[in-house]
Amino acid sequence: MEATCARALEIGLPAIAFTEHADYVRAFAEQRPVDMHGYLESVERCRSKFPGLRILSGVELGEPHRFPAEVSALLRVAPLDRVLGSVHTIRQAGAAVDMSQGLLTPEAAPALVREYLAELLTLLESEQPFEVLAHLDYPKRYWPHAELAYRETDFEEELRAVLEAADGRSAVLEVNTTRGAEPGRGLCPGPIVLGWWWELGGERVSFGSDSHEPAKIAAGFAAAAALVEAAGFRPSDDPAGFWRR
Ligand SMILES: [Zn+2]
Repeated sequence: MEATCARALEIGLPAIAFTEHADYVRAFAEQRPVDMHGYLESVERCRSKFPGLRILSGVELGEPHRFPAEVSALLRVAPLDRVLGSVHTIRQAGAAVDMSQGLLTPEAAPALVREYLAELLTLLESEQPFEVLAHLDYPKRYWPHAELAYRETDFEEELRAVLEAADGRSAVLEVNTTRGAEPGRGLCPGPIVLGWWWELGGERVSFGSDSHEPAKIAAGFAAAAALVEAAGFRPSDDPAGFWRR
């Protein structure tokens, strides 16, 4: 985290949010519940070491609607600046499988993306207290792009239902640049979905690079900011604020 703060100052970022993963599904054997106390101590240490950088605390709740008791215990530990909600997995034979785990063959991918979007809709329609909807088309990262074109319009009905539900709960739509990956795969979502968000009255947009390592923070932000601006949204006066219509 300290290396990330140093890198943020080096590239001129005025603010940064550490949205630590809180995942309760057992999609990966090495997954452990987040240690919120240790996390918050680390944030405080960074704040005293880097007074010139605004450092927001936060968490990315993975599938929180399936773990309401765990999530509410976690959120009681301390108030957080940013709470993201996301889905990474779908159920296969009773077990949660992450979309990154080779599920998306050309034959299976379209149906699995629909399952993913249905799970996302369930999350949005739940009472879970998150503000930002993270990487809403996450499976796009793992889509078999070489064999099959990924077209948002093939999932328009499902994607629009997700966006409507997000707007209905006044959520912020995150544009996730996937550590600067090639935009066709890594920009979640891309310009078509952003256009639909604008069209249905979506109010706010945030940016996430999902960097997971200091060298990749804010990777892809310049291109993403240009797209968000082209869709009609404007930056906030507050450098840590959401973009708005
Ligand atoms: Zn995520």
